[in-house]
Amino acid sequence: MERVYIGLGSNLADPAEQLRGAIKSLGQLPQTHLWEVSSFYVSDSLLPGQPRYTNAVAGVDTGLEPLALLDALQAIETGQGRERHERWGPRTLDLDILTFGDRLIDEPRLKVPHYHMQARAFVLYPLGEVAPGLMLADGRTLDQLLAECAFQGLERLPG
Ligand code: ATP
Ligand code: MG
Ligand code: MG
Repeated sequence: MERVYIGLGSNLADPAEQLRGAIKSLGQLPQTHLWEVSSFYVSDSLLPGQPRYTNAVAGVDTGLEPLALLDALQAIETGQGRERHERWGPRTLDLDILTFGDRLIDEPRLKVPHYHMQARAFVLYPLGEVAPGLMLADGRTLDQLLAECAFQGLERLPG
């Protein structure tokens, strides 16, 4: 089993409900144990003109290989009505693999650690809740990334 952190995001069709649906599906993945979910955080879209996002991070232990987990996450996205039009467009559900055990993955379909997590408060702060003191496979620490990333108008929803 390897420990994997998954970033969840939604800004369409009742985002908090979308995240709850995704968490339920993560709990039903084969060879996988969902052991923790962060608070939900709301923030403005980084791109103008989109609804606000709700984000969270889940921690799982899985025996699935990385691409098999990615397939499963994309199936959950599709099952919740994810449509891909423009890049970074509004979405019912986004599930991104943030870290996967100690692995560095650089494949066409999968880059881990997630390439943009260091710039995203809505990833780093919920990740800090479920994985305090995390060290990334490339040697960076979550504490360093948090120190360099302002809270940026995140609103933490009450549990
Ligand atoms: P961003 O990657 O900037 O967060 P996004 O999540 O909106 O944008 P998607 O449309 O969800 O992007 O995914 C585009 C492609 O990214 C997917 O088809 C997938 O193959 C690839 N990808 C690469 N690395 C990862 C990762 N760590 N987690 C999830 N998808 C990834
Ligand atoms: Mg994403
Ligand atoms: Mg994605």
